Amino acid sequence: MNCETSAEWMSAQLDGELAADHAIELDRHLAGCESCQKTRQTMARLAADIRNLPRHQPDDSAVIAVNEAVHQLAPAPRRSDFGPVLDLEELAEFLRVTPETIGIYLDELPSFELGGKLLFRRASVEKWIERREQSIPPTLPTARRHDGIDSDVILQSLDNLRMIRMN
Ligand SMILES: [Zn+2]
Repeated sequence: MNCETSAEWMSAQLDGELAADHAIELDRHLAGCESCQKTRQTMARLAADIRNLPRHQPDDSAVIAVNEAVHQLAPAPRRSDFGPVLDLEELAEFLRVTPETIGIYLDELPSFELGGKLLFRRASVEKWIERREQSIPPTLPTARRHDGIDSDVILQSLDNLRMIRMN
């Protein structure tokens, strides 16, 4: 065993994390190595000093400051209270997408302009969503209905599709 490993193991031992067989090997090294004995004394003293440090109790203003900082980092809670007219940012929030995604669908999304600002009526957007919902599932069973798939399979597939869309 070299002194580097010895130092690592001594540190582990102070943390109560050294396996018994390693402890025996470590003791064997320490018995013949004055340098590591000194290191161990220093480590033990340091660990004791750290244990004896007074516990710091932050005052209320510090706790509040930390709380505020954490809340600024955390994402804002999701909104669910939207008015009848949304601007682009609110529409993005309403639809749970980024404003960039709204930009992609801007041609087909019902909108109006007022004072140089693009606005969206929530009711119109909801109708647009309904139209999209109806146009989504052209894939599954209808095309194959004549191939002898029984109606239970078709209903099951439609149910699955509905589940997927709900999620
Ligand atoms: Zn050593």
